[in-house]
Amino acid sequence: MEYFPPALENLVEQFAKLPGIGRKSAQRLAFHVLSLSPEEAEAFAQAVVEAKRAIHCCPVCQNLTEGDGPCSICASPRRDTSLICVVADPKDVVAMERSREYQGLYHVLHGVISPMNHVSPDDLHIKSLLERVAAGGVSEVIMATNPDTEGEATAMYLSRLLKPFQVKVTRLAYGIPVGSHLEYTDDATLMRALEGRREM
Ligand SMILES: [Zn+2]
Repeated sequence: MEYFPPALENLVEQFAKLPGIGRKSAQRLAFHVLSLSPEEAEAFAQAVVEAKRAIHCCPVCQNLTEGDGPCSICASPRRDTSLICVVADPKDVVAMERSREYQGLYHVLHGVISPMNHVSPDDLHIKSLLERVAAGGVSEVIMATNPDTEGEATAMYLSRLLKPFQVKVTRLAYGIPVGSHLEYTDDATLMRALEGRREM
């Protein structure tokens, strides 16, 4: 049985709660923190507290943003507000923005429907998407969830929900291999997927 002073043990436990971090890695990280100067350790702790305090979901698109108002994309006068691109994750917005091809707005679901992981439609930001479309001014909703089983099922589910609103619903034309993620797709492929999108 290993013995650490309680404060160190607590630090190890906090690191061990992070995704993908086992007990051994947690110990390594805790010892690293102990080797920092007091200023460095303070800056690290402050970054955690400050990120948690400052980052919120944009009230319009649900992407992560600082402050209470809409994010910079929703607030931009240069974006095409008639287009909404639906993605699973804030990281997917970064991927789409990187391609610099897309000029519309986004809607971040914060996950996909996954019975296996106990994620139901109620756990996702779907109601706010329907409200945006219902409010009018949207001509097309682009489904850009990943081309895996759960991403496809989520896109199908949403397209059915959106049918009554008489809005065009399209799906990215994935030349992207099945099972791959938007996040790791190169810009050229993403651009082709966007240009070749098809009505669902
Ligand atoms: Zn936004």
